[in-house]
This record gives sequence, structure tokens and C-alpha cells, in this order.
Amino acid sequence: MIGAAYNRLAQGVTWVRTPRHPSVGVHISPWHSYRLRKATSEADSVVGAYGGHPRGIRSHEWPRCEVCSAPMCHMAQLDAGAWLDLQGFERMSLFICHATGGRCEDWDPWKGANKVILQRVRDDNLYDGPPTVRVYRRVRLTVDPPIDEAALMRDVKERGLPMSRVLDALRHDKLGGGAVWLMGDDTPQSPSGKGPMRLALQMTTDIVTFDITRGGMAYAFIDPLDATDAAGRLVWQGG
Ligand SMILES: [Zn+2]
Repeated sequence: MIGAAYNRLAQGVTWVRTPRHPSVGVHISPWHSYRLRKATSEADSVVGAYGGHPRGIRSHEWPRCEVCSAPMCHMAQLDAGAWLDLQGFERMSLFICHATGGRCEDWDPWKGANKVILQRVRDDNLYDGPPTVRVYRRVRLTVDPPIDEAALMRDVKERGLPMSRVLDALRHDKLGGGAVWLMGDDTPQSPSGKGPMRLALQMTTDIVTFDITRGGMAYAFIDPLDATDAAGRLVWQGG
């Protein structure tokens, strides 16, 4: 169950893909993942950031919790590129409600207590936002070279490599590939009824101690069948 997305891969199930945005460059398979790390030198190409004040979010765009109405806390912003297919959008920003200590069920992708904002324009300006109960420290992120998770799964299937060992090796912050679940498969299904959403980002509490319980993991998904800016969903599981 924990590697359910990988089981779908083993069964030959693939996701429907929308055409790539012309600026994104080379085609990467949805089974390539890029491990995220803290950018430490000027030579690192920056793909986004965790925490801090979000760029390009005007005050009227700042999401509020649909359960308690509080302004949500900013978690992360990731930019599209060879490392991340955002289906034509340029930037994905993640927000979560921390105002009620979990009573808003902020782990649920459908309750409105977290938010994935997809933007077509990459705007690096800082705009005023509302006060929030938590501001995470800003950490700029870079990526390692891609890992072909499909090849790893072939090693599981054909060479007897233990699945648990492969999943442990993928239990880190990453873009793309399959979701490594802590508690079983919570992949959001496309409201179109035509299958699962695609993993865009897997987050741990290793780089920034997000308030999703220590050892918790969060996952941002995109509905490949939804071309609108409402295609993103966030879900997390406690550690
Ligand atoms: Zn709330």
C-alpha cells in the first residue's frame, strides 16, 4: 500500500499527460524525480524556496482557510522547469492553515484548509500579506540530477531488489516520481473520475520543520485532466 503509485507503474498504468509548455524544455517522464536540497552556493540553480514571505502573491490572492477563515501560512513555492512539469503554469505555491491546531483538518486535500496556487506568470515581487500565525524561515532550494524511478522499480521486479529499500531511498523532499506514503495511499483522484492525480512535490520535515508533526510528509498533486489553476491539491500524513 505504501508504494501504491509504484504498484500502478508495475501494472503498466500511466498518467495522461497534457502537452508541455514551450518554455519548459526537455520532456521528462513523470517517473523521473529530482531530490530537493538547500541551495548553498551561488552556483546552485534555484528551483524555488520553502518558507519566508511568498513572491508574487498579492494581498487579494492570499488564501484564507475555508473552515476557519484565517489567512493561511505559506509553506513553499516551486518553479516549473525541466525538474517540474506544472502543465503550463510557471509557479506553484503552497499554503496551509495553522490557526486552529489541526481542527480545520488541514491534511485533507478537499476541505479548503490548505491551498495550491498555480500561476502563469513568475512574479518575484514581494507584496504585503496578512499577518499569519506562523512564518517558516526561508530556505532556497536546488535539485540533484534526476533519478529514474521506473528503472528502480524494474530492479524491484526483475532483480529482486527489496521494495522497502527503494522506498526508503526515495523518502526525501523531491519533485516528481511516485509518492512514498507513510500510512498508505492517499493519492487524490481526479474529479473527472478518470484516475489519480500526478505527484508534483513530496515534502518532509527535514529541510524545514513544517508543522505536520515531526517525521510527517506532505504531497502536492496536480490533476493532469484539469487545465485550470484549481488543478493542484495538497495532502499530508503524520509521522
Ligand atoms: Zn483553518
